[in-house]
Amino acid sequence: MKRLLLALLALVTGLGGTMVSRAARLVPPLPVDTSGLPPMPSIDSAGAIQRLAGAIRYPTVSYASGAPIDTAAFRGFHDHLVASFPQAHATLTRELIGGLSLLYTWKGADAAAAPIVLMGHMDVVPVPEPNLPQWTHTPFSGTIADGFVWGRGTLDDKSTVLSSMEAVETLIRSGYVPPRTIYLTFGHDEEVGGRYGARAMVDTLVARGVKPGLVVDEGGFMASGLLPGLTQRVAIVGIAEKGYISLKLTSRADGGHSSMPPGRTSVGALARAIAALEASPFPMSLDGPTRGMLDAMGPYLPFSQKVVMANMWLTTPLVQRTLAANPLGGALMRTTTSPTMLTAGIKDNVLPPEATGVVNFRIRPGETSESVMARVRDVIADTMITVAPLDSAIANPSPVSSTRSPAWALMRKTISSMIPGEQPPVIPYLVMGGTDAKYWGPHSDAVYRFLPIPLGDGDRERVHGLNERVAARDYASAVTFFIRLLQGVGGL
Ligand SMILES: [Zn+2]
Repeated sequence: MKRLLLALLALVTGLGGTMVSRAARLVPPLPVDTSGLPPMPSIDSAGAIQRLAGAIRYPTVSYASGAPIDTAAFRGFHDHLVASFPQAHATLTRELIGGLSLLYTWKGADAAAAPIVLMGHMDVVPVPEPNLPQWTHTPFSGTIADGFVWGRGTLDDKSTVLSSMEAVETLIRSGYVPPRTIYLTFGHDEEVGGRYGARAMVDTLVARGVKPGLVVDEGGFMASGLLPGLTQRVAIVGIAEKGYISLKLTSRADGGHSSMPPGRTSVGALARAIAALEASPFPMSLDGPTRGMLDAMGPYLPFSQKVVMANMWLTTPLVQRTLAANPLGGALMRTTTSPTMLTAGIKDNVLPPEATGVVNFRIRPGETSESVMARVRDVIADTMITVAPLDSAIANPSPVSSTRSPAWALMRKTISSMIPGEQPPVIPYLVMGGTDAKYWGPHSDAVYRFLPIPLGDGDRERVHGLNERVAARDYASAVTFFIRLLQGVGGL
């Protein structure tokens, strides 16, 4: 007995030792050498802020309801770009695509080198009327106050459009000629799926034989407090995005008078089907981009958490349980199930012959819209219910871009040089919403999603929310990011 206990003790000690030594090997990558960077041209920061503020004043709103957009606002925004960036408009060619989207081409010295695509979108989400009093400054005023530019689009995503153009203008003034061709594509309907803007621009470029060596769009960001234990500011860069499908469940039964209900009703069957879907969530998985994210964060965690992260062969169930405890963690690991709409009935004493519900799914890499639909039918398993895709955007998950490529190295180097004296850890991750970048998925293996603006407390809620704003200092970082990125594309 004693010998058995001793053996057990030795085993546990050995195991513990292995786990600790694995954790000790989790060290951050070497810092990026930014000593040999080209000189930074001087940026007109005060002017840049004014130009961004001016862009906010055009209510370029996209409506999910399909309500008509204010085309004059988009044309005004276009004119604002022309007036703001004269050098860029004298040097680059500009095409109107898909009605109101803009495609700029900046010819590079080497026409044979793989080009770069910088994406952004000009449209913004609406501001609901009842929320207006809660805005410190009216959302389309472009007010500059307290060190911020305020208004809808200051983070999502006019900041990207304006700061990338600011970088181009600045570089042209400094005499820079890009070593390879640069495309800038600014969509006009990203907030409603990009089906007319980004998709048309990607189709146009693909038809011209363009195969980008790097595509950069919004999606990731820089912030602190992203994971318990992770105290420092990190830059998360989307290397993939989830897919999207909404399924309409239709339940049919005999209608009639509510005084004599049949055994099963349309409403009851629909309710049961939705409850079954919620009770049987999609399986969790810690592979792909989510695993890449945890691996990359590991070295920056406290030692006790490192032990967990470095020993996933043993700790996967624990990590999954911990992550699944909050909605964000759950969404990183699985295809999500969200019932969003219900319709049935016209009168309290009439049994409706039909009840319908809509469930929205965000599909994780490894699954497809077809596999989601098949599983939903399996889980519901009810002949009273039919399942069909809703007539809205359906997208499979994007391919996963590499974190070992020269394009990734350029992203990391650029992020490491966008803020003086700070090299945030650069962490790959899975974007849970949709971006215009999804249309490049089939055509490029180097698609990265990153909004180069350091976000402060509460800023993530301001995106699509109240009091969206950007600090002048942080906006300057975005301009620096695009200048450094363009200066670096020769090394790809
Ligand atoms: Zn956006």
